[in-house]
Amino acid sequence: MEQKVFTAEEEKQMVDSAFKNLLDGYLASNHRKKVEIIEKAYKFACEAHKGIRRRSGEPYILHPIAVATIVSQEIGLGSTSICAALLHDVVEDTDYTAEDIEHQFGPKIASIVVGLTKISGGVFVDQAVKQAENVRKLVLTMSEDIRVMLVKLADRLHNMRTLAAQRPEKQRKIAAETQYIYAPMAHRLGLFPIKTELEDLSFKYEYPEQYAEIEAKLHANKDAQLSNFEEFSAPIRKKLTMMGYTYKLYARTKSVYSIYKKMVKKGIPFEQIYDLLAARIVFEPTTEFSEKDQCWMIYSAITEIYR
Ligand code: MN
Repeated sequence: MEQKVFTAEEEKQMVDSAFKNLLDGYLASNHRKKVEIIEKAYKFACEAHKGIRRRSGEPYILHPIAVATIVSQEIGLGSTSICAALLHDVVEDTDYTAEDIEHQFGPKIASIVVGLTKISGGVFVDQAVKQAENVRKLVLTMSEDIRVMLVKLADRLHNMRTLAAQRPEKQRKIAAETQYIYAPMAHRLGLFPIKTELEDLSFKYEYPEQYAEIEAKLHANKDAQLSNFEEFSAPIRKKLTMMGYTYKLYARTKSVYSIYKKMVKKGIPFEQIYDLLAARIVFEPTTEFSEKDQCWMIYSAITEIYR
């Protein structure tokens, strides 16, 4: 990997603006505005990781900021989890201890950081016994405070987004572990966009050629797909309006990995996948019938347009 070189001033700006983005997002959320403790955690993490870089060459602190941003903006958690995310690698990677964190930030944040440190080794190792032990640790830690798992998922998501900087063997190990453990976990926790992104990224590193091929075809198809979708959805819109509904109609593209899974399962080529786009209707139920009945009424109305 070629490393980009930035001046110290440019780096400072990158870090400042990443943290500003984190705070702005937090302030725009519905959480209580506990900015002070977040700033304190940020300063503490900056000091702890000072002078350290990631493998990509960028200042280490950008990683905890990114994880905290995912925790806040993509998972929707509040200040305790944001602080734990900012501090999540401090005990593992620096001279500071769990006691230091507890002393500065209290027992709740400290216990999440400790939980994250316990499961930081990863799950896949050579011996089966060790691996079973790691899974056990993961489950036990998770059941103490679900936020440990949520921050861990954010950490894994950022590591997957930046996996290009790692050695190939490490890429494969991390991708396999993500596919096997973390994507299903995100699924169970109801974090569907994160589950999908984890699956796609794992697939990209485990099967680079297949990924590139599907991705290229999907991309080439996009404009045609979207204009088809407009045509397809017009009569549905008309019907919903006639029925008097306030609604939103979304187009959802199938993910690269789910296309691949379908191709393998059905033994068909890309060209025979016909549900690359799906429609999702979100409507405001009226008071006349139950919400469930109205779902069926809309479904029934659509089957009159399309079989
Ligand atoms: Mn980390």
